[in-house]
Amino acid sequence: MDIPRLIDPYGREHHYLRISVTDRCNLRCVYCMPEEGMEFEPSDKILTYGEIAEVVRVSAGMGIRKIRLTGGEPLVRKNLEQLIAMIAGIPGIEDIALTTNGMFLAPKAQLLKDAGLTRVNISMDSLQPDRFKAITRGGELRKVLEGIEACAKADLSPIKLNVVLMKGLNEDEIADFIRLTRDHELHVRFIEYMPIGHNDAAWKSLYLPLSRVMEVCSEQQWKVEPVAAIPGTGPSENYRIDGALGSFGLIHPVSSHFCQTCNRLRLTADGYIKPCLAWTEQFHIRRVIGDDEAMRRMLMDALRTKPEHHEMSHFLKADATVSHTPTARRMSQIGG
Ligand code: SAM
Ligand code: SF4
Repeated sequence: MDIPRLIDPYGREHHYLRISVTDRCNLRCVYCMPEEGMEFEPSDKILTYGEIAEVVRVSAGMGIRKIRLTGGEPLVRKNLEQLIAMIAGIPGIEDIALTTNGMFLAPKAQLLKDAGLTRVNISMDSLQPDRFKAITRGGELRKVLEGIEACAKADLSPIKLNVVLMKGLNEDEIADFIRLTRDHELHVRFIEYMPIGHNDAAWKSLYLPLSRVMEVCSEQQWKVEPVAAIPGTGPSENYRIDGALGSFGLIHPVSSHFCQTCNRLRLTADGYIKPCLAWTEQFHIRRVIGDDEAMRRMLMDALRTKPEHHEMSHFLKADATVSHTPTARRMSQIGG
C-alpha cells in the first residue's frame, strides 16, 4: 500500500510538526494569555505521551522530520524528557526542538539533551528585569539567563531567543538585543505580534511592523549582512551585524506573510491537528489513534483545508473582512 506524503493542494510538502504538550503555563505574557480567567483543559482531555508518540510515528511515515515541543509552557508538564526519548526513537525524526519561557530550564537542560533534544528557542521579550516581569506577568529574567547558560553548557545549540516586539513596550530594546548577538553566539528572532485569538483594538495598538528593526540598524550605522540559513530557522530572514558571533532574524507574518513556504502542521494539547495557525479548522486526531489508516486520512483531510495564506494583516484595516473564520484559540492553546 502506498503511504501518501503530506503535500497540500498548493504543492507544499510538510516536514514539520509543532506539538503543544499542555495548554497550561506558569506565566501570563501580555500578548498570549489574559491575566485572569483563562480556562484550562482537564487532564483527561490532554494527550498522553503515548498518544503523542503515536501521532508522531504515523506522521513521520508520511514525511514529518522535525518536531517542536511547545505549549503553554512545555516544562510544566512532568518528565518531558520521557516524551523526548520516545520521539527520538521514532524512525524518520531528525530534529527535536523545544520552545520554552526558560523559567524551569536551567536544572533540566542536560537531562533534555541526554533524552534527545537537539535545540531550544527561549522566549525573552526584554533584557530589563522589571520590564520582563511586567510583560510576562511574573517572570524572573535571572532564571531565564541561567537557562540560557545551561543550554550552552549542554550544547543545545543553536540557541535562539524569541522576542515579540510591541509598540511602546519593548521596541526601545531592539538595539540592545542586536548588541547581545555581537559578543554571544545567540540568535535573536524578532517576531511580529500576531492577532491570534484576539484581533482587537488592543492588539492593533501594540502591533509593530518589523521594518522598524532595520531602521534601528541604520540609525546605529551598523553594517548588516544577510546570513545563510541557520539550522531550524524556518521562516526567519536572518542577518548579522559586522563581526557578530550570533545573528538576528525577522519573522513577520503580519506585514509580509511567508505562507508560500509553510511546511508545518500543529498538534494541540487536546488532540487536534490544526493545518493553519490563524483559522478555526481543526481535526480531532485523538479519535483515530490506534487506526493508522484513519489517521493518515485525517491528516490528508486537514491538509486539504489549509488555505493558500492567512489574512492576519486584514485586521489592521478599519473594516477587517476575512475569507475564513479566525481561530478562537489563544496562542497558548495552539502552541505558537
Ligand atoms: N511557553 C513557551 C514560550 O513562551 O516560549 C512556549 C509557548 S508560546 C505560545 C510559543 C511562542 O509564541 C513564544 O515565543 C511566544 O513569545 C509566542 N507568542 C505567543 N503569543 C504570541 C502572539 N500573539 N504573537 C506572536 N508571538 C506570540
Ligand atoms: Fe506562557 Fe509562553 Fe504564552 Fe508566555 S508566551 S503566557 S510563557 S505560553
